[in-house]
Amino acid sequence: MQGFPTIVHLDADAFFVSCEQARDPSLVGKKCAVGGRERGIISSASYEARACGVYTPMPTARALRVCPDLILIRHTQGLYGDVSLRMFDMCEALTPAVQRNSIDEGYLDLGPCGFPGLESLERAVRDLQRRIWDELRIPVSMGIAANKLVAQIASKLRKPRGFVVVPSGGEEAFLAPLPIGRLPGVGTKTEAALNRLGLRLVRDLFERSERELSAVFGRGWRGVLERARGQDDSPVETASEEAKSYSKQETFAADVADFAAIERIAKGMLDELMPKIRADRAKVRTITVMVRYADFSQESHGRSLKCATDLEAPFYPLVGPLLRAAWRRPRPLRLVSVRLSGVDAGPAQLEMFGQADEKRRILAGVLDRLNRGGRDHVVMRGHQLPPSSIEKKDT
Ligand SMILES: [Mg+2]
Repeated sequence: MQGFPTIVHLDADAFFVSCEQARDPSLVGKKCAVGGRERGIISSASYEARACGVYTPMPTARALRVCPDLILIRHTQGLYGDVSLRMFDMCEALTPAVQRNSIDEGYLDLGPCGFPGLESLERAVRDLQRRIWDELRIPVSMGIAANKLVAQIASKLRKPRGFVVVPSGGEEAFLAPLPIGRLPGVGTKTEAALNRLGLRLVRDLFERSERELSAVFGRGWRGVLERARGQDDSPVETASEEAKSYSKQETFAADVADFAAIERIAKGMLDELMPKIRADRAKVRTITVMVRYADFSQESHGRSLKCATDLEAPFYPLVGPLLRAAWRRPRPLRLVSVRLSGVDAGPAQLEMFGQADEKRRILAGVLDRLNRGGRDHVVMRGHQLPPSSIEKKDT
């Protein structure tokens, strides 16, 4: 484990309502809720509506009684899923290790990003929070901690737009003063029952003997105590094939400002990733180029092809424009990465390849075999030629 926390829990605030407000800004700041009218249930309520006593899930009829001027919004088919995909795409531009837990909640493991310390990691997470707001108009809360359990509790602590960081080793001290109902698995009813037994805060558990705890929680008491101490070693699981991706990044020893050189490096990454994709008999649809500056702020841009491919050629012409779109600040770069996602790993489908594609595939297979295992490229592609020979042509 690193000396600083790298697990992030991201949780959108009043997600369905926020999506509706993003679509119709006249709803911002109003008492509104998404839900069905007749015999319906409220599935998401604005914070203004919550202040009025509306919560989820609550029967719509009751919500309208406690808050007569509530603006009721019908579910918009497709909207929430689309916004969710875009939100998680932005997360995956930061790290490939993203676990989508639900439509508006997920975990990110920033361990693989190689941040040198908590300060730069925090800046990247704040930047992600800001960009999700800037681009999607969705407010999200972030919790950063050493594990998923504590990160999740942290993200829910200061909603909306929360940002809570729990330093490594500070898990138990962070949880101790919280109401016991903050622990996952302790619902409202259980909390009330525990309160009657004098267990109000997480720390109250530590004062009870094993016998007392097992009398209250049964055989699960050890697990409850572990959670209360903030112990959890469950990994961030990037489960779905869809979320799987192939990526490569390069950190420069000194900051680099030469566009042509970086474009060449990015294309070289494509050359390294594609043989892996072919070896997995997979295909990919989306390419994302990410740049990071010396202050660890970063920007990414992606494009998707109409259909998935296992060839370099369709992606080559996208690398330069994507790099240009991502590298907007007139500042040298510290790092560049290329990510290929939208993995299609299903059984080979009946396809209609153009002859050119078929020839490229045969050639790619030959190149893969020639280059396999060897550090030196046996065959060079145009962008791998020495810089001097290309830069003259670069306009
Ligand atoms: Mg949420």
